[in-house]
Amino acid sequence: MTEKEKLDIAAKALKHNGFDPVICVEKAANAIPVILDWIERDAWLEMAGSVSVRQLGLLDLLRERGNPGLDFPAPREEDPARGRRDVLLVSANALTLDGKIVNLDGMGNRVAAMAYGMRRVILIVGANKIVADIDEALDRVQNVIAPYHAKCLGVDTPCARTGTCSDCNSPQRICNVTTIITRRPPRAHFSIILTAEDLGLGWDPAWPAERIERIKTSYRVEIDKFRAALAPARPGASD
Ligand code: SF4
Repeated sequence: MTEKEKLDIAAKALKHNGFDPVICVEKAANAIPVILDWIERDAWLEMAGSVSVRQLGLLDLLRERGNPGLDFPAPREEDPARGRRDVLLVSANALTLDGKIVNLDGMGNRVAAMAYGMRRVILIVGANKIVADIDEALDRVQNVIAPYHAKCLGVDTPCARTGTCSDCNSPQRICNVTTIITRRPPRAHFSIILTAEDLGLGWDPAWPAERIERIKTSYRVEIDKFRAALAPARPGASD
């Protein structure tokens, strides 16, 4: 199955599960004008540290445009419009072919906001995050995404050293909250864009080494920039 075919199947399933709009684009760059169009210029934004958002350059574009928010964490208490025009701009850790959105969080801020409380949730998902089913999604987040994210963050967890999850009891454990959004929650309003190009973190170990290396390198570059701008680094399974 090609990436485009996977995208189309996942998009159809997401629509069946109540998510709308769901748009597929070939090039990741083609997502940018669509997302900018979805966001009002005065919308207060939160992005929960999303690497996919950073890779698209959306952070700078939205800041240049004057959108408030976009700090991580955002000073929500100072936002006079809180609850009225909040938009969460994030990715997911994995998306199944039958349209289920799977995430693993350290603090739970991202997944909580995804399910409830935001006026709109904009979800950007690269082809590398589409998996066959929930079993593959959970395996992927626990044994691929979390260990590599922990390594990039430099946290002291066993997986950061070994690359494998040992269901640790580390104080810096980055995976504490797992969510599966099976259908659109009644008060959540999602706008979803799927890209046939890879974005963020996630790969199948059976893929060609160059593709995996490209995903890792691109992710690491963004995390290094993120860490430089935010000291000390905050643990949490980013996307
Ligand atoms: S439970 Fe611990 S070892 Fe496993 S992925 Fe999470 S932080 Fe790493």
